[in-house]
Amino acid sequence: MKLQSNKLFVLSVLALSTFASCAKHSETQGAIAGIQQTTSSVAGVASETSALGRDTTKVESVIKLRKSAVLNRPFLYGAGLQFSSIVDGKLKTAMMSQELGQLPVYFNINGGTLQLMTDGSLNFESDVNHPSRLVHEFDIVSQDNDTISIRVVKPSPVIDTFMWGNDNKVPLRVEWNRSVEYVESNELLMVESSVELTDGSVGEFMETLVPRDRQVPANFKAISANADDNDAAARYRFLDAGKVFLPKDSDPTVRAETKIAMRWALKNGEAVKWYITSNVPDEYLNDVKNGVEGWNRYTRAAGLPDIIKFMGKLPAGVKVGDPRFNLIVWDTVQQAGAAYESQNADPVTGVQQASMIYIPLAWVNIGKEYWKKTQASEAPPSSVPSQGKAIEHILAQRSFMGRPIPVHCMNDVEMHLDMASKKSPEDFARGLLKGVIFHEVGHSFGLAHNFKGSLSFDPDDAKKSFSTSIMDYNDYNEEAAAFSSVDSSDGPLLEYDRQIISVLYNGGKDVKASDPKLPACADDEADSTDAGVDPLCIRYDIGYDPTKQALRSLELLTNPQARSGRMNSLPAALADALADLPAATGVKTTDDADAALKQALTDLAGVTSIYVGGSANSLGYIGSTALKSLKVFQKGVLLDGYNETDMRENALSMLEQASSMTELPDATKQALAKQKTAILAYLAGTPALTSMSRADQDKTLADYGTKIDTALAANQTAALSKMRGRLIDALKNTPTAPLAFHKRNGQVLDLEVVVMGVLEQLAAPKAGSADRPMAERTQALTSLKTYSGADSYQAVSDRVQAELTKEIQSSTDALQRQALRNLLTDFTSADSADSSK
Ligand SMILES: [Zn+2]
Repeated sequence: MKLQSNKLFVLSVLALSTFASCAKHSETQGAIAGIQQTTSSVAGVASETSALGRDTTKVESVIKLRKSAVLNRPFLYGAGLQFSSIVDGKLKTAMMSQELGQLPVYFNINGGTLQLMTDGSLNFESDVNHPSRLVHEFDIVSQDNDTISIRVVKPSPVIDTFMWGNDNKVPLRVEWNRSVEYVESNELLMVESSVELTDGSVGEFMETLVPRDRQVPANFKAISANADDNDAAARYRFLDAGKVFLPKDSDPTVRAETKIAMRWALKNGEAVKWYITSNVPDEYLNDVKNGVEGWNRYTRAAGLPDIIKFMGKLPAGVKVGDPRFNLIVWDTVQQAGAAYESQNADPVTGVQQASMIYIPLAWVNIGKEYWKKTQASEAPPSSVPSQGKAIEHILAQRSFMGRPIPVHCMNDVEMHLDMASKKSPEDFARGLLKGVIFHEVGHSFGLAHNFKGSLSFDPDDAKKSFSTSIMDYNDYNEEAAAFSSVDSSDGPLLEYDRQIISVLYNGGKDVKASDPKLPACADDEADSTDAGVDPLCIRYDIGYDPTKQALRSLELLTNPQARSGRMNSLPAALADALADLPAATGVKTTDDADAALKQALTDLAGVTSIYVGGSANSLGYIGSTALKSLKVFQKGVLLDGYNETDMRENALSMLEQASSMTELPDATKQALAKQKTAILAYLAGTPALTSMSRADQDKTLADYGTKIDTALAANQTAALSKMRGRLIDALKNTPTAPLAFHKRNGQVLDLEVVVMGVLEQLAAPKAGSADRPMAERTQALTSLKTYSGADSYQAVSDRVQAELTKEIQSSTDALQRQALRNLLTDFTSADSADSSK
């Protein structure tokens, strides 16, 4: 064994327990006969990283394999990311715990090395030409007739490729194995490693290797996730482990591209066990348990044993990525707002090895944090990419052995903000956490999203189910109904989920012919612009018709009596917005009074933002989803009872009203004016003011009045700009799903012309009497530019340029003038705007 000279080495031999005499032959002759290890400290890393608590132990291993148990035997190689500092440009969110994938592999002796190769036939149609990829290559230290000893010192180059990303190859600085562990009872090898790039990116990984026969039960029957060859895959949305070429059932000599549904192979009816990292605060453990075990309602209803069990905190010493422990990774870094789930499965049979769920603290803190922030200064949303989008962007640039990373969800916490977070922040946090875990665990069972789940919601009929599936991104307000109480894991059987669980885990025995065939659609359908759009497949929305829901969200701003499901109107919400101000008697100094005023203004801004542009419940968001209905619909996509022309008319009517809204509607303004009066009366009654002379009191109150007016004006501009920003973004041209022609009052409207007109208006310098934020103008022109191929674009573009030129010439503010010049340059530059979304 070659040893590095500058370090102290410890030689250790892992003691491998011998099996009871009745054990099967394959067990007594498991894949690994012994491991010798030396440990040292990683040169050049320990001193600078030890403060972060990272393990810089470098483990070099010589592993003795039994030839009879490894050669000519199929294995599965998988990997998971434990933690990383991989960030995407200006976005601060680092990619965190997730599975990276699993692939069939085999061992191959090649001269002095032992190679671990993928079975290339998986990726290719031809049975003749299927280049296998090299996963790893190990120096052979020694071998005899029965055994072969290899040196294992670093992770697979597959891991390096993942770190680099597909087109941004930063050189490797250092990589090392941190631990190598063999679990004899199921012949599982686990290797932990760290990789550092020269740009400072760090990634920590877990690689696993297991004989396929240990993971996949004999005679396990795969379920096709391909709608073309399986009716169930057309009716439900299964998660799959990516495209594979497999022999056809009907003709095994023909290999065809297909997808296999991922699911657990439940062993002896045992429940799938879940753990959470030990840094989770104890106060949330029960909510986590209830979220995880929410799925037992379906097997219980079918008279079957529990399908899932929450085991509590991860036992000390168990590593993240150990496939024997399905794990919720709790992150105490708040700003990462997206939760996601990932799982490793054999792509040929779909049998899952393990699943990981990542939940940042934001899921319990968002409600509290939200009410502390000042809303007025916030930029329109689309200029600040969501955390989920940021992670998706990083993932899109990466692959695992040429296959996409199996992360199935980017659930953005910001989208679940709700008024409930104001009324009872702690219940809101618990409910939100329980809901997101219920959803993410659903992915681990092999359920893809169903964004049509919430079409069952009727804002006027509380008896109807809020959703047929927890696999929609559901509205917090209504999703609370998924559990019978805040302390319970029980709740209603959501019909789509009940059916799909039966199909995946009980042969569909609980789905009767008379059971409803429920609408379903997943991510690719939500994003599809292939010969039109599906206007009913929408993330985070709720309601049977998104266009009616959009008009209703508008009505919530204009009519104090309006309601939608559990949500009351904005004027009504503003009326109770100040209930949690401190008691007036406790406001003793002017500092106290200033703080109370600030809180009151933040509350008003926060409430307004939730309704106008800042949440999934807002006019801006629901309105933007309804704009899909202005585009050409995919053939046959509308369900019974929907009318294309009506949907278009609703969407257009909403757009006309919302885009031209330059002030908050009167009912909302009146509610704000009442609150101004109430704030002043409250402040006037505080000891801070009553202790003043009458003259000082009047002067102070007058100052406060001015402050309130200024804040409310700024809030109005910010909220409306945020709302319009969402609409502007949704108005981008999608050439494969163009804006339609629409009949209104016997006239045919070319919606392309209408939308260009709206965008031109939204790029104008003024929004009513207020200056339009530059970010909104930039956004409007970016969207407008996506129509540059349209016949009437030139005329619009000429007008916009002429107006901007005039504005530049008459400007008397150098910074403003430069910003206008940039706007014009961007608008006229040749590069086509990004029309993909
Ligand atoms: Zn999801």
